[in-house]
Amino acid sequence: FFEKIVAAPADPILGLTEEFKNDPRTDKINLGVGIYKTNEGVTPILKCVKKAEEIILKEETTKSYLPIVGTPEYGKLVRELVFGADSEVIASDRARTTQAPGGTGALRVGADFLKQQNVTGKIWISDPTWANHFQVFGKAGLETAKYRYYDKNTRALDFEGMKADLKNAKAGDAVLLHACCHNPSGMDPNAAQWEELAKLVAELKLLPFFDFAYQGFGNGIEEDAFGIRTFLKYNKEVLVASSFSKNFGLYNERIGALTVVSADKETADRVFSQVKIAVRANISNPPAHGAKIVTTVLSNPELRAEWVAEVAEMRDRIKNMRELFVSKLNSLGCAVDFSFINTQYGMFSFSGLSPEQVATLKKDYGIYMVGNGRISVAGITTSNIDALCKAIYEVLQK
Ligand code: PMP
Repeated sequence: FFEKIVAAPADPILGLTEEFKNDPRTDKINLGVGIYKTNEGVTPILKCVKKAEEIILKEETTKSYLPIVGTPEYGKLVRELVFGADSEVIASDRARTTQAPGGTGALRVGADFLKQQNVTGKIWISDPTWANHFQVFGKAGLETAKYRYYDKNTRALDFEGMKADLKNAKAGDAVLLHACCHNPSGMDPNAAQWEELAKLVAELKLLPFFDFAYQGFGNGIEEDAFGIRTFLKYNKEVLVASSFSKNFGLYNERIGALTVVSADKETADRVFSQVKIAVRANISNPPAHGAKIVTTVLSNPELRAEWVAEVAEMRDRIKNMRELFVSKLNSLGCAVDFSFINTQYGMFSFSGLSPEQVATLKKDYGIYMVGNGRISVAGITTSNIDALCKAIYEVLQK
């Protein structure tokens, strides 16, 4: 049966981590995978998470199954985070949330639902995007297409290209949008552009599907929901895949959520009954621990305040590293002006380095980044930034 199986290439990002681990150099630097690190280079458990776990350990009385879609309390807290507690969507009770295994699981459940219910056959995805998007939607059986997003020459959002390509979509197609902190470019639409996009997508009758993997890493927890909330002014039907991997540091707990907004409450219930089938067919019902942590933190005012502060600390550290990175590169007299890095949001930055330059950085300096020049800014620390900038300066001289 298996002789004909051809080996798959290593995952472009997780494969890089393997290579990094096997590199014997002690001064190596990993700017590949998107995991937050402190200035000490570690990925800690958030304090609010540890405290929530202590409460859970004491109070948990059973390991019985959760409902297929997770608990109602979890769903409600997720919706409030995404839409705002006093939003019209919540007041009119037309959004439903299912727990999912990470943002990836949420995207996949959404993709399965769209395919199984013939909601759409095609989804438009930004070029570039997170490497797994095409696979997640493609393996669910949806056709995928690309829209322009990033202009390599201006090192900015290609807003005109984006709109022009979306106009080529057919009414009924879906469009995947990064709600904030676009991965890998770090370029997000501004407020006026979100408004324009929201109107355009409604006019073109496309179904917006938001990937919300970095809420709180851009401008703030509330602020980062601006794009989604703007879309809801013009679009009655929206999907949102939330991830708590980054903003709660719960990477290996695999905790996320899919929220589907329908035009009215009655439709929302019918839709949700089918979303449930998609979950049931995938995982039967979800794991409890990550959801319990998120629920405990968000529903306890003290822990919630601590979480908000810890997210701000992560966001600010990344922002500071961007600024330091740019000022150090520019003061070395680099041939390229790197100021554009300060206009990007979130964990990632498109450095503009070529695949050859990326390869040289790995081979000669032990500096690892994704082949397209994406840097995980969270991997930069005050201890490695000088070596990093010097290496980039030297590689640019070659
Ligand atoms: N979407 C984007 C844009 C991401 O960057 C990531 C994580 N790298 C995910 C989804 C998946 O997140 P999770 O680990 O929660 O599945």
